[in-house]
Amino acid sequence: MDREQRGGCVREAAKESQVQVSRVAPLARVFIRKRPLFSAEVTSRRNSGILYPSLISTRQASKRLICSVATEPAPKQVEEPQMETPKEIFLKDYKLPDYYFDSVDLKFLLGEEKTIVSSKISVFPRIDGSGSALVLDGHDLKLLSVKVNNNELKEGDYHIDARKLTLLSPPNSAFTLEIDTEIYPQKNTSLEGLYKSSGNFCTQCEAEGFRKITYYQDRPDIMAKYTCRIEADKSLYPVLLSNGNLIEQGDLEGGRHYVLWEDPFKKPCYLFALVAGQLESRDDYFTTRSGRKVSLRIWTPAQDLPKTAHAMYSLKAAMKWDEDVFGLEYDLDLFNIVAVPDFNMGAMENKSLNIFNSKLVLASPETATDADYAAILGVIGHEYFHNWTGNRVTCRDWFQLSLKEGLTVFRDQEFSSDMGSRTVKRIADVSKLRTYQYPQDAGPMAHPVRPHSYIKMDNFYTGKFLLVMIADDLNTNV
Ligand SMILES: [Zn+2]
Repeated sequence: MDREQRGGCVREAAKESQVQVSRVAPLARVFIRKRPLFSAEVTSRRNSGILYPSLISTRQASKRLICSVATEPAPKQVEEPQMETPKEIFLKDYKLPDYYFDSVDLKFLLGEEKTIVSSKISVFPRIDGSGSALVLDGHDLKLLSVKVNNNELKEGDYHIDARKLTLLSPPNSAFTLEIDTEIYPQKNTSLEGLYKSSGNFCTQCEAEGFRKITYYQDRPDIMAKYTCRIEADKSLYPVLLSNGNLIEQGDLEGGRHYVLWEDPFKKPCYLFALVAGQLESRDDYFTTRSGRKVSLRIWTPAQDLPKTAHAMYSLKAAMKWDEDVFGLEYDLDLFNIVAVPDFNMGAMENKSLNIFNSKLVLASPETATDADYAAILGVIGHEYFHNWTGNRVTCRDWFQLSLKEGLTVFRDQEFSSDMGSRTVKRIADVSKLRTYQYPQDAGPMAHPVRPHSYIKMDNFYTGKFLLVMIADDLNTNV
């Protein structure tokens, strides 16, 4: 994933006082809502210097807020259940999961008021007979039902709070877990999980957004095979996309229709994606070196379709280059790109369904500069290359973020160098490091490549992670 630099203000504020930490949470939410302003890798690479004033002012604001809270009585109407104490996650606390998931069948009933999400998960314990509780992450979800081996659980069989659903005594051998939840994408302004914007449904699950879709072990070392069935109104949402291959579709009563997607490769839940809306596609194909024909589709609102020619060229060039240089062939029958103006995370490498903000994909000869064309080539390549470095081979935990991002940045730099001028690319990359990374390392945003702890992983999508490979190269060669 490629995102703009994020602030460490939540973590800094939390450090200031353990007593005041619960007062920090609303501020964290305010700050997180500001993330759209900080999105997009290309913008980041060009302009990330302008972020510092924003971040500094947010940090200062955090101190002011804490100060005023400490001297004024808490308002009576404080919504206590929504006050969340930030929880610091430590690398040293990593433990293998007690349970693994083998397959996940998801079903989405998309609606205007609410969306029902049903998941059917085949679960098996890491150690047979261990009898540990199964702890699932969940946030902003309304639990409708939980079943284990087709038996509905009663209160007392599980514990639920604002962040977790805990099955107190699950079976001590393999079992089937079914969970129904209700979510409200049209009210989701966090831009994580499933949200609705400009009439389209869209997801963003990296780093920890899947827990806003359903209860799950939301961690990258839980890898499972997914199917995804989507039902929705056909006229409002003629296009229904998810990961993998489309294996079934059809019409339903009441003007609704459905699709069924199957992703044959195991993946962590942060790579899950769903898009539903009124989109049109530019279609092409790529024949892999082993002779398999892969359908390529770039989906946009109808008026943007003429501006996707360079993105399609870039995708095909990236697929060929990865075969020629790294020997890596695409592994599914279909590769979808969605480019919508409402996607606030810049670009995201969801397995076979990359989602981009339009500005990273669209270009027309009348208005685009050479730099625009080069940026599109680089970012389309970057997200495609994640198919192997990040998706098929992924992280154990989020402390390893720099492994997938650093390696994939290195690959997109090599790709851009081979497609254009290696010297010009190198000068541009070093210039970015000196302009953006070095000041960050000299300031309050400095952090190690692999941090020891985090509160909100999103704060670590910084140049340190994205540019680590160049930095390494600089240290050894310059
Ligand atoms: Zn990336």
